[in-house]
Amino acid sequence: MNIALIAHDKKKEKMIDFVVKNESYFKKHTLFATGTTGTKIMENTNLTISLKKSGPLGGDQELGAMVANQQLDLIIFFRDPLTAQPHEPDVSALLRLCDVYNTPLATNERTAELFIHHIKKD
Ligand code: PGA
Repeated sequence: MNIALIAHDKKKEKMIDFVVKNESYFKKHTLFATGTTGTKIMENTNLTISLKKSGPLGGDQELGAMVANQQLDLIIFFRDPLTAQPHEPDVSALLRLCDVYNTPLATNERTAELFIHHIKKD
């Protein structure tokens, strides 16, 4: 599967912990990420990730284009619901495209866990 990983700044530690905990799962898939999220994950794991631009500089839109081209099978996006984001329109556009193209989207850790455990069983 092609999986995209994104985390807002206050959720990056949580994302790293989540990916480290599930590294053997993620190793079996093709990974994409926004710039800072992906760089930090690679610094803390042995995973290889295709990096897009940083989210505020267009990375969410790049991943949105992949959704529109049906090139992503799962998006794990740990959003920070308590901090205003300068690129909120880009975030909304990505979430919208996931619904347009029926792409699985996990916006918190419990949901992401459910997805990957479910998919593991397939
Ligand atoms: P980043 O982007 O991984 O480059 O920080 C994430 C975001 O804020 O959308």
